[in-house]
Parts: sequence; structure tokens; C-alpha cells
Amino acid sequence: MEVAIVIFRNNLRVKDNYALYNATKYNSVVLGLYSTQINKGKNYNFKACEIYRENFISETLIDLQKNLLVYGINLSIVDDIEEALRKLNKAYKIKIYFDEEVGVYEKEFENILKKYEYKSFFNQTMIEPFVFDYTKSFSHFRKKAEKQRILEPLDDLNRVNTINFETKKIEAINIKMPKYAIKFKGGEKNALKRLEYYMHFIHSYKTTRNEMCGFDNSTKLSAYLSVGAISARTIYYRLKKEEEKSFKSESSYWIYFELLWRDFFYLVMYLSKNRLFLKKGLQEKEYKFKTNKELIDNFLRANTQVDIIDASIVELKTTGWLSNRNRQLLANYLIKTLGIDFRIVAAFFESYLIDYNPASNYGNIAYQAFVGNDKSYRIFDVIKQSKQYNGNFYVRQWLNKEEQEPNFDYKNSALKIKESVYFVKNNYHN
Ligand SMILES: Cc1cc2nc3c(=O)[nH]c(=O)nc-3n(C[C@H](O)[C@H](O)[C@H](O)COP(=O)(O)OP(=O)(O)OC[C@H]3O[C@@H](n4cnc5c(N)ncnc54)[C@H](O)[C@@H]3O)c2cc1C
Repeated sequence: MEVAIVIFRNNLRVKDNYALYNATKYNSVVLGLYSTQINKGKNYNFKACEIYRENFISETLIDLQKNLLVYGINLSIVDDIEEALRKLNKAYKIKIYFDEEVGVYEKEFENILKKYEYKSFFNQTMIEPFVFDYTKSFSHFRKKAEKQRILEPLDDLNRVNTINFETKKIEAINIKMPKYAIKFKGGEKNALKRLEYYMHFIHSYKTTRNEMCGFDNSTKLSAYLSVGAISARTIYYRLKKEEEKSFKSESSYWIYFELLWRDFFYLVMYLSKNRLFLKKGLQEKEYKFKTNKELIDNFLRANTQVDIIDASIVELKTTGWLSNRNRQLLANYLIKTLGIDFRIVAAFFESYLIDYNPASNYGNIAYQAFVGNDKSYRIFDVIKQSKQYNGNFYVRQWLNKEEQEPNFDYKNSALKIKESVYFVKNNYHN
């Protein structure tokens, strides 16, 4: 018997899912398959996936299992993908359907799938992918990106038959969170609900998106996008519909603009292959980053003595969430002021962020490290930014104290570190 196997990784949805749609369109028997091995492993001593994202994925898988059954499809959850495919291939004539991803481990995983008859799709971006110079800036990309087509979400699926195959039982837990935690509940149903709800806020988004605390100041769709519980195209077309109903504003445009940043980093990683994981990143520069354990352990204990930075570390480590503003301040400080290797900082973010995806994380962090797509060497004045974005309130929440000026000459030390720790060799070649 012929069986189409749909591989679920970061496409954990039924709506607008190319691999699933095509499998059900051209086959009468379909099985969904998810392997837990994609989130295992360690990176610079950090667990690849901490409990926050792990639990969010479990919630999303439970929802997906239910939603697939509506179309007659079982979802099997296994540990070892190679073993599962071997067994399935022995019992049936299998054809694999999967969505392509970016990232080194992700590509290694795809090589396992490609040993069988397969059909793959690149379905991660909002716009249709195109080739550009990935070493250049976002502005360079944006000019062409804004002219790219955005395909409408796919039609509903066909109902099909399925097979029974072994599966692990997945359970989600209720993680105890601090009082001020931003909490997410996984699943496609919740992603669509959040999208609907956020339509009330699209005309204020641009003025609130930089805030450090609060839920409705930004869409909070990133975690759903990262596991693929919703597609960027679904968000885009819902936004358009809302603009037709109400009006177009600079603010509603800005949500699309931020989704373009997401596409930018996906395509930068896609085109540059593994370069964002290398020390010199996309640029031919060689910095002397620090890797000593003491320095790293100190920041992990939230003991930098700069309150806004320590508070950000506490929030990330105890909730899996950090606002975009705090992510920028934290990454910039750890890399440019403390001089820590950006790959270690990226592994730290990767481990804890509930919305981690390789392209957005490594793209943004390489940008902060000045080895990615940023065109000028920027050191954030974290104290000034903290004042500007209500950091005192934020610090009170996460450190349970009033924010204090650090007891060292912050500005001077940042400049000195820049001069002494780093040296830039232009036109550096290995
Ligand atoms: C150091 C650092 C690490 C980051 N790591 C990740 C990551 O692993 N995963 C992730 O999804 N985002 C990452 N971001 C981007 C950004 O911080 C989050 O996407 C955003 O804060 C999520 O909140 P939101 O959904 O409310 O975003 P909104 O402000 O509502 O934006 C809408 C959507 O646009 C996209 N987006 C917004 N800003 C960016 C950006 N700078 N880069 C790429 N996409 C963006 C996201 O998909 C987001 O959901 C990182 C940013 C920094 C500075």
C-alpha cells in the first residue's frame, strides 16, 4: 500500500501547510510524523531547547493531533526519525512530504528524509523567495522584497485515510511562572485566536511595539510563527482584510514591515547556508571575542551589575520571553560591552527563547555583533534606553528593586572595551 508521510517540524498547522496540502491532494492514505530529536542536543553547554519552548511545542502538537484527525490523519510522534522511516518503508511504499527549513541541524535532518522518495516545499516566508546579496542591509533587500508576490493561503484540505503507527504520548505541563510573566499557550487554534484579537490593536502597534512590558503592545505571534502554528501569509491577508474594513495606517503597515524582517533573516540564512553560525559571520572580519567561563557564568547569574541587563536575563531565564527592545539591549551589551562571543550569546537565547528560530535568532544576534547585516558599529547606551522605555518599572518587576545607575563609568568602559578587546582586520581571509 502507498502511504504519504508528512513530516512535521516547524510547520505545526493544518491551515496553509504546503506539505500537508499536497500530500492530501495527491494521495489517499496519509500519516503525519513528528520526531522529538529535532529539539535535542546541546550548544555551548546550553540545552538546545529549554522547558518553555518544549512545553509550547507539546501544547501545539496536542492541538495538531486533534486538528489532523478532522481530516482523517493520524499524527505519530517518535524519537528516532531514521528508525521510524525504516519501519514504515518496510511495511509500505512511502513517499515523504516535507517543508524545507534553514539551519545546519535542520538541513542534516532533511538529508535523512531525502534517502526516500520525497517532495519538498519552501514555505517559510511571507513573500515569494528571491535571490539578493545577503551581505547587504535590510534596506537593500526591502526595495525588492516589497515588490514580491505574497501568495494567498491555501484552500482547505481533502479528507483522506490513514494508518496506525507507533506514537509517544505527549503531555503538556503547567509551568509555574513569576507573577509578571508573559505567558503563551501553544496550538494553531490559539494562534488564530491571537491573530483575531490583535486586529483591535493594529493602528496603535507602531507606537507601542518598543515597550518592555505588556502583552498587547505587539502581536505576540512570534512563538506561533516559529513552530509554524500559523503562516506569515495568513497574518498578512488577515491584516489586509482588517485594513479594508477600517483603514490603512503607518502602524498597520509596520506589522507587515516587521514580518519582512523575519523574511529577510530567513532568506539571508537560506542564501548564506551556514555562514551566520561562523565566527566571522557574513562579513570578512575577525573579532577577538571572549569565551571564558567566569564571564559567562557571571552573566548567567544575572550579575552584570547593570540592572536593566540583569533584569532582562532574569525575565528570559524564568519565562522564555523577552521583548524585542530588551533582546537588543541584552545581546548588544553581552557582545559589545562584555565582549562575549556572539555564538555563545546566540546559544543562550536559542536555549531559552520560546519563539526561537535559527534565522531570526542568529540573524539578529550577528547584526548586534556587527558580523551580520548591520552597516554601522552601534553600542547601545543601555542606561539611556532604559530611561526612555520605562526601564525602572521593568527592573522593579524583575529584580524587585529600584533601578540604580551602575557604579562604573559605563560609557567609557564600553568605548575602552571596543578599542582594546576587538581588532578589525578588513579584508580578512582565512
Ligand atoms: C537578539 C535578538 C534575538 C531574536 N531572536 C528571535 C527568535 O529566535 N525568534 C523570533 O521569532 N524573533 C527573534 N527576534 C526578533 C524579535 O525580537 C521577535 O520576533 C519579537 O520580539 C516577537 O514579538 P512579537 O511577535 O510581538 O513581534 P511584533 O513586534 O508583533 O512583530 C511581528 C512579527 O514580525 C517578526 N519580527 C519582528 N521583529 C523582528 C526581527 N527583529 N527579526 C525578525 N523577525 C521579526 C516576528 O515574526 C514577529 O512575530 C530576535 C531579536 C533580537 C534583537
